Amino acid sequence: MSSSPSVVGEGGAPVIELGLPVTGGSHQRSTAGTAGLATSDAERSERFAQMRAGELGSLHSWELVTAVDGPGTRLTTFLAGCPLRCLYCHNPDTMEMRRGEPVLAEELLRRIRRYVPVFGVTGGGLTISGGEPLMQPAFVARLLRGAKELGVHTAIDTSGYLGAHCSDAMLADIDLVLLDVKSGIPETYRRTTGRDLQPTLDFGRRVAASGTEIWIRFVLVPGLTDAPENVDAVADYVASLSTVSRVEVLPFHQMGRDKWQGLGMTYELADTEPPSPELVARVRQQFRDRGLTVF
Ligand code: SF4
Repeated sequence: MSSSPSVVGEGGAPVIELGLPVTGGSHQRSTAGTAGLATSDAERSERFAQMRAGELGSLHSWELVTAVDGPGTRLTTFLAGCPLRCLYCHNPDTMEMRRGEPVLAEELLRRIRRYVPVFGVTGGGLTISGGEPLMQPAFVARLLRGAKELGVHTAIDTSGYLGAHCSDAMLADIDLVLLDVKSGIPETYRRTTGRDLQPTLDFGRRVAASGTEIWIRFVLVPGLTDAPENVDAVADYVASLSTVSRVEVLPFHQMGRDKWQGLGMTYELADTEPPSPELVARVRQQFRDRGLTVF
């Protein structure tokens, strides 16, 4: 998404006037772009230095949403770049960091500041999603710190795979972790994401030990993640985390299919149907059986 530069930001980088946010629907929505957000045209080497310092990040898009991505009305930012390759990813265009647009942390924080009254009235705040936010830990740390200085509630939406990138200082600035647990059996996790399960388990335990609230997200895909023993493994793990206040079972859908094809990527789930209401009910009950609050 691009617009015409109109003002000059910090470091002499041309930036673009902010406009109205893109608004979205459910969690598994397709994101809509960086419309209205400032971008930077800093020189390449300067960009790398700024990125290392956390001053500059790679942004896919952003939205203003209500009742998803955390409590209240939230500004959700989707950062570019992800180490996982989930077969059901509905935003495969967020997988590569180079597909994002450079955005100054200060510019994003200026935008967040404008929404402080909205966050106050609705009990909302900032959610940093992706892609994978922890691909850009310095940028995320700066956003979180800036948001906390504004008194804004903060959340990150993460697979936990890069949990080692989240410092204790960052964790202290996070009010809510939306932890995507994509499977409970290592082989199924690898088949689903291409990566190992263990880092996610380790991160969730660390977050719980810190006392930080967790919402769990589990995408239910017939023939991939729906085996009773896989769901049991996820549910047993989740029930062991003392700070989990909510579990969201998200039925698979085909909304991302066109994006895969548009990017020339092989989409393996083209013939997979959404789960039946009975299957969704069975899986939700598996979580409820452990005393968990399920949506
Ligand atoms: S973690 Fe999220 S962004 Fe990354 S591949 Fe999986 S679904 Fe897509």
